[in-house]
Amino acid sequence: MQLVEISPGAHLIGGEWISAGKAMGTSINPARPTEPVGEHPVGDASTAADGVSAACDAQKPWRALGYKRRAEILEQAAVLFEERADELAMIGTLEEGKTLAEMRGEAMLSAETCRYQAAIIKMPTERVYPSAKPGETIRTLRAPLGVVGVVTPWNFPILIPVWKIAPALAAGNSVVWKTASNTPLVSVAVARVFHDAGLPPGVLNLILGPGSMGGAMVADPRVDGVTFTGSVPVGFGIRDTVSARNGRVQLELGGHNPAIVFDDADLDVAVPLIVAGAMGSTGQKCTATRRIIAVGSVYNELVDRLSHAVSALSVGDGLDPDVAIGPIVAPRARAEVAEALAKAVAQGAEVVAAASIPDTSECFFAPTLLTGSPQLDIWTEEVFGPISTVVRVDTDDEAFAMANNTDFGLSASVFTTDLWRVDRAVNTLEAGIIKINASTTGSELQVPFGGEKQSSGHAPRERGDTAHDFHTRTRSVYINPGTPNPYG
Ligand code: NAP
Ligand code: MG
Repeated sequence: MQLVEISPGAHLIGGEWISAGKAMGTSINPARPTEPVGEHPVGDASTAADGVSAACDAQKPWRALGYKRRAEILEQAAVLFEERADELAMIGTLEEGKTLAEMRGEAMLSAETCRYQAAIIKMPTERVYPSAKPGETIRTLRAPLGVVGVVTPWNFPILIPVWKIAPALAAGNSVVWKTASNTPLVSVAVARVFHDAGLPPGVLNLILGPGSMGGAMVADPRVDGVTFTGSVPVGFGIRDTVSARNGRVQLELGGHNPAIVFDDADLDVAVPLIVAGAMGSTGQKCTATRRIIAVGSVYNELVDRLSHAVSALSVGDGLDPDVAIGPIVAPRARAEVAEALAKAVAQGAEVVAAASIPDTSECFFAPTLLTGSPQLDIWTEEVFGPISTVVRVDTDDEAFAMANNTDFGLSASVFTTDLWRVDRAVNTLEAGIIKINASTTGSELQVPFGGEKQSSGHAPRERGDTAHDFHTRTRSVYINPGTPNPYG
């Protein structure tokens, strides 16, 4: 049923769906690799140039349409995300592997994102200043950047694109979106929502193709700003390219997120939240709980309880409603995770729990709990899969120092019922997102999202009202009457 509707996929350029190409690719279902999800064209640098040209043509009329019409189209996109949530979830699960419930959640949050960003442009985001001259008004103006390049990963194939595209469009920009090669068809379904909501041709352009095509897009001098989510090396490369022409760039990169558990924590609260944070979406989240720091006497009981919970996780095809953890996105990604686990064990980590997995696909990987020491490579290097490591420390000082001893700074959790420890956590943790008695994963769309150190760039944060700051430039406007003061 789905295959007929979604295959072949297509680029969306200048309002036209282009399903044929010089090269074609096949999208794979990681839960059933022998059953292709569908076909799609594979673009190159000329596809990127076509997308940018269409976006250039469309941008000024789109801005001139005014905030009200732009907001109406985003509100209609929200309606369509809700109406099509099941269809989007089905295509997303077939391509990416996470469970239908997880994928449906992305569609529903996409609806909320579109409504929120439509509302932001109705808010007073400009300012009026006092002037030394009688009759003069000094105000700021928010102008769109122009053409925004959006480059996204596969792990949240619906929501991450939408939380970038919606604020870009709301502010009056046009967009060229280079999506991840692992998730082309669900990207087509997302683009179709915006298209069907009434976007004029060329305002949103979707291009399907490899990283090199994304590289050509971000290198195009007609692209005024780029918002990227993905790995550190690719993100830093894009930053260098875009910064070299003084373009604006927003980066969301990796994470290596700690959860500190103190002896006063309520483990009935902490354990399910840590397991969900570590293993949810098969551990393929930038905010996943990778490092569990157990302080003092809590260690034994914590490891015991986490082990039981991890061993009990049901792994399988994300279409099965009884499954909690789907496969890893692709065979190569799965092999990288397996290699990292083997290396950790060779370096002395102990596997204290592993869930059972079906043998129907090479992409299934057992959610695994390790114990070990901070000397393990896995304690410092991001492994994008369902592995988490517990390390014991004796003091609060050691725990906070260890939590911060990382190149990343995206999210950090603390489990405690001691308000002094909460105060210390809030004031000393080096992370863009700090959670108390809550998972490192999950966050609200009206709240700025991003990290520190190598986890993010330095542009205004994604999501929340700060997304509008990234997608606009501030101009200062001085308006004088132009005639002598008639009142003397
Ligand atoms: P990736 O390899 O960096 O890919 C991300 C996107 O960049 C994909 O669309 C990719 O295309 C594209 N790309 C690759 N090379 C490019 C180039 N030279 N120029 C322009 N675009 C290029 O990341 P990934 O492995 O797919 O995703 C996992 C990473 O994303 C992890 O490190 C994770 O922590 C991070 N992540 C961060 C956040 C956050 O908000 N901080 C959220 C989610 C994920 P192809 O798919 O065609 O290679
Ligand atoms: Mg990649």
